[in-house]
Amino acid sequence: MPSLAVVRPPRSRAAFTSSAALLALLGLTPSCGKKATDTRPPATAPATAPAPAPAPAPAPGPVIPTVSDDPVVQRMVELERTQSQVHTLLATLTEKFGPRLTSSHNLMAAERWARDQFIEWGLRATLDHWGDFPVGFDRGPQRGAMVEPEQIPYEFTTRAWTPGIVGPARGRAVLLPASAEEVEQDPTRFDGAWVVHPPREDPRAASKAEAKPGKKPGKKPDKKPAKKQPKKRSKADEAKAEEARDLALREAGALGHINPAWDRAGELVHTSGRYKVQWSELPEDVHVILRGDQHADLHKRVSAGEEVTVEFSVDNRFFAGPVPQHNVVADIVGSEKPDEYVVIGGHLDSWDGATGAVDNGTGVATTMEAARLLLAAGATPKRTIRFMLWSGEEQGLLGSRGYVKNHKDEMERISAVLVHDGGTNYLAGLDVTPEMMADMQQVFAPVQKLDPNMPFELLPTESLQTGGSDHTPFIRAGVPGFFWRQEGRSNYRCMHHTQHDTLNAAIEPYQEHSALVVAIAAYNLANLPGLLNRANSGPLPRRVMGVDLDGTTLKTVYKEGVAKKAGWRAGDEVLTIDGEPVSSTRDVIRALQRTGPTPVVALRRKGKELETTLDFSQEPAELERSKRLQERKEKFGEDALKKPARARQAPFGDDEVSCRPPSPGAPPPYLPEQPAESEAPAPE
Ligand SMILES: [Zn+2]
Repeated sequence: MPSLAVVRPPRSRAAFTSSAALLALLGLTPSCGKKATDTRPPATAPATAPAPAPAPAPAPGPVIPTVSDDPVVQRMVELERTQSQVHTLLATLTEKFGPRLTSSHNLMAAERWARDQFIEWGLRATLDHWGDFPVGFDRGPQRGAMVEPEQIPYEFTTRAWTPGIVGPARGRAVLLPASAEEVEQDPTRFDGAWVVHPPREDPRAASKAEAKPGKKPGKKPDKKPAKKQPKKRSKADEAKAEEARDLALREAGALGHINPAWDRAGELVHTSGRYKVQWSELPEDVHVILRGDQHADLHKRVSAGEEVTVEFSVDNRFFAGPVPQHNVVADIVGSEKPDEYVVIGGHLDSWDGATGAVDNGTGVATTMEAARLLLAAGATPKRTIRFMLWSGEEQGLLGSRGYVKNHKDEMERISAVLVHDGGTNYLAGLDVTPEMMADMQQVFAPVQKLDPNMPFELLPTESLQTGGSDHTPFIRAGVPGFFWRQEGRSNYRCMHHTQHDTLNAAIEPYQEHSALVVAIAAYNLANLPGLLNRANSGPLPRRVMGVDLDGTTLKTVYKEGVAKKAGWRAGDEVLTIDGEPVSSTRDVIRALQRTGPTPVVALRRKGKELETTLDFSQEPAELERSKRLQERKEKFGEDALKKPARARQAPFGDDEVSCRPPSPGAPPPYLPEQPAESEAPAPE
């Protein structure tokens, strides 16, 4: 248990470069960490203060736990708890520079700012060129609304690298014509009009219907052959017809298209785009992507014959490339092994439908804050700590892939790459192989003592986990790459690539905590006796059961799969895998990767429990998998890959929580009030 001390510093944003000066300012001696001077419970969430009182007592100061004998680590804790700049960094990124699309001037400005900021703190920093985009794209202000018969402000986006319209461009709304011929029959109907596309089908409903036509789990299967559908046009024919129709609309003088946003609940507006456009062949049609519920309302009105007028003004600008693209690379040069590296980072680019606060401003801010803390605390790590802010991540990890390709010779000297790209929840763990577990336990020992309300867990994994972020190209190049596990009350799904990805989505106490976790991890990794052990860490193809899961319940069992061979049926519920209880789809998938080739799985079927065995022994990756397992059992014991007992429940289901604000001015529903925590342990 950490000993705790409470101090009351000013909350100025100035950096203290000397901890003695800081302590003097606070009226404390350097041994302050050892004595508890206040017995109030730790203030873990200063952002959610209690109801205002007429004459509020001074708020309790931050808690500074003693987490390490290393004065650098301890000083970083003090600095972060008293002088954090992580939120200022995020605010600058999102409010000053705004969205940071790869190839935009905003991103270029943010890159220069980040580089200069690193240099100002005392790092060696550069912009590292990784490639070029054919066309640049800037997004300016935009607004849109229904103006007749009602005034309704619209929430919408357009894809990046598509044109806008100088506005306000006002016109009546008409339904999408079926063909070019329909336009040519009466072109005046489309002149000066906005063309409303039909609502999207619920993709889930569609895939469900396909998976099991006319039957429910447990019911007798429907033996009747499906009705023959009229033969569909080929995809190519369909695209051709659409192209002809769009051309006819353009020639008739249509202002643009109004498409529904892709979101089942009709709440979210996702922004994406395709950067592979040519200056000589830029897309010409304006496509507004309107929030699903608003689009449904508009479509319903127009379908019913109502006269509806809408207007949009969208300031989208292309500029001619090639537009050079960079990663920001900044170093604290190692004192003993300057050619060996620990890389920490996030991606600086964002989609541009909002300001990219949690994807991935939060990762950038914690990376930069970690650099500032290390320097301010006087860290002189043995290895070089390299801070990387990648770009082109959203277009397919382009910056990190480019870096790995251009710096092949470095790969064997990079101990670890830690990527923070999962939103604003606090960093709560890493998946590590048994070979690196002992080193990692040493690295993260101080992190375990930071805050009892933000626990940290190292989970054993048979191989490093690739995924959709910048650690993946490094893993593919043989480098131990990691994506932080994150936990907390923020619902990332409501913000990721949506209109809600703005500064108010970030949770400051989590950000401060995460910056510290990153800084401590980087410092301790850089000071390990050797590089992290990368033996047996390369990715293995995942075991696949051949089922669709809804939580732990089987929705579909496919014919050819391992599950079918084990006698599994739709409607069965997975209870345990080799004795390990599972409570979510993620649990099932993860537990399945840790077992031997023939795991025993307990199922519940119609209230009864039964035991089954999945047999993966014939799968191609099993040879390597069993080799690793055998080796590990000998070296680390039977339980080398067993998950620790403490099981946590994810606070949010997949997409069951509404992201819609309940009323204007109400707190964002995607950041619900902090649930009542179990009593925090009192300071000793
Ligand atoms: Zn991201």
